[in-house]
Amino acid sequence: MERSGAGMGVKKPLTPEVTIIGCGTPTPLPDRFGSSYVVQVGDEKLLFDCGPATTWKLARNGISTTDIDDVFFTHHHFDHDADFPTFILTRWDQMVPRDKTLNVYGPKLTEEFTNGILDEDTGLFAHDWKARIHHPASQITFQDRGGELPRMKPDVDPHNMGPGLIKKGSSWEVTAAPADHVQPYLDSLAYRIDTADGSVVLTGDTAPCETVTDLARGADVLMMMCWETHDKMDGNPHADASSSVLGAAETAAEAGVKQLVMVHIGARLTSAEMKGPREIEAKQAWNGQLVWGDEGMKVPWPKG
Ligand SMILES: [Zn+2]
Repeated sequence: MERSGAGMGVKKPLTPEVTIIGCGTPTPLPDRFGSSYVVQVGDEKLLFDCGPATTWKLARNGISTTDIDDVFFTHHHFDHDADFPTFILTRWDQMVPRDKTLNVYGPKLTEEFTNGILDEDTGLFAHDWKARIHHPASQITFQDRGGELPRMKPDVDPHNMGPGLIKKGSSWEVTAAPADHVQPYLDSLAYRIDTADGSVVLTGDTAPCETVTDLARGADVLMMMCWETHDKMDGNPHADASSSVLGAAETAAEAGVKQLVMVHIGARLTSAEMKGPREIEAKQAWNGQLVWGDEGMKVPWPKG
């Protein structure tokens, strides 16, 4: 893939930089809740999942919604998408002088979910954008921020996608593979971001499975769900829908990645007394570079 920045004298590194916005579960904890990640390549920022409080946590991490033009959903459990109305409306409200298309990709339901928020007749939040477009006080507020009238409705372009190439950007491409989670109720996708200088895989929610292992093969960084310890999940339905510490470590080993980042960490695993046991379990299968994800973390790039 061509590096961008050619002709400007200095070539910019295109290492994908991941900021963890949300790496919890549906259970709110003071320091983690739901899933959301920003992957920056050069000057572009891609958002993966939009779990509870994503918009506010983006602001806490110094990231503006207006810097994001592409959103990718792994699946439509609420801990991965519940903040999307806030994200869409905040981005549209703050974008000046005029709105810019927001591209949204994800498995089946992504179009229905997005239209359900914004649709002029049936959207649950249509009353909001209509009031802001038409009320004179809202128009003044918008102009004070640098907005130009007449104000247009939010420009959002959702796509239901299957596995394969999802989008090719100027210096990155995103591909997807099926992830084993809670089918047939919800489809799930795992994503891989490739640039000239590196690759990152975000599994979303998944049990260890061949399609995710294949997607992750040779990646620099694997960000994988880590729900519970193996002994708590083995032999019950959790094992078919989610990954344990051991499962994530085995996937990292099989895929030959350089670094594993454990995310979507179950509430019990975050307690201080679980630190030792979870490390021991991971080391059974993986002797590589292991990082335990925290919200607000900029994921270190693997050494070597
Ligand atoms: Zn889920």
